[in-house]
Amino acid sequence: MSHATPSHRAPARPVSLAQAIQQGGPLAKLFHDAARQERQAVKTLLEGQWVQALLPELRNDAAERVATGVGQSPLKVLHACEPGCSACCRNVAVDVTPLEAFVVADYLRANLDAPQREAVTARLAVNAQARSQMSANELRRVRLTCAFLNEQGRCSVYAARPLACAGAFSMSRQACHLAAEQPASPAAQQVPFDPYTKTWTMGVSGGLQRALVEAGLDGNLYELSSAVLRALETPDAVERWLRREDVFHGCTCTDAHSPPRVNRAA
Ligand code: SF4
Ligand code: SF4
Repeated sequence: MSHATPSHRAPARPVSLAQAIQQGGPLAKLFHDAARQERQAVKTLLEGQWVQALLPELRNDAAERVATGVGQSPLKVLHACEPGCSACCRNVAVDVTPLEAFVVADYLRANLDAPQREAVTARLAVNAQARSQMSANELRRVRLTCAFLNEQGRCSVYAARPLACAGAFSMSRQACHLAAEQPASPAAQQVPFDPYTKTWTMGVSGGLQRALVEAGLDGNLYELSSAVLRALETPDAVERWLRREDVFHGCTCTDAHSPPRVNRAA
């Protein structure tokens, strides 16, 4: 009978942040702290009443909470991000809550002229179509150029960007560029993002989702392009969402955990 020595064992598979959070420890605490703070903040801001006028304030409050977590990261000094660096935006798979999608859509209406909006809408449609044909595995793995990346290499919705974008910081520009140039390579899956800011941001998003669900609203996560496109093209989208209509029917749902999508936990 032989026993494999450590050097003969298969290398340990890298643990995803979601797995690390499930396993407990410091990252789990960080996640749950952020989620608790966000959930409580939403409740306080709303005082039990969801009204359309409060949506930008809710999103900004969540974004400020993300920024607070970023500022407290012990790895902050290693962040390689800087204005104009956008390889990450050429290699992304971003998910948003309905609230974030509505805020991005409003920002586009208010800040882009008609030709700019048309160009963004066309790119959104291309990405949404591509994503709609992907399996769940591909949705996690395949990354595309974001529809909001403009010709100058800047985010055209920066002030309203999704929480996931606001909390993603890499510690290697070189790794980001390699990943963008060779998206199918193993290196593309190994960009050294700051796990503290990502975990904190996942917690903020989780708290927001929970608050939406507790209010009886659609609190699922949707692929960015399809959700913003739907928010742009649906008349009275926010009012209908607040009336519990299934505004995002047919969009690519990447985390179905509450009505009106399939509740996988049931
Ligand atoms: S995540 Fe990477 S590509 Fe994006 S801004 Fe930071 S260093 Fe640049
Ligand atoms: S929304 Fe903006 S920051 Fe986020 S991936 Fe798209 S271009 Fe980049």
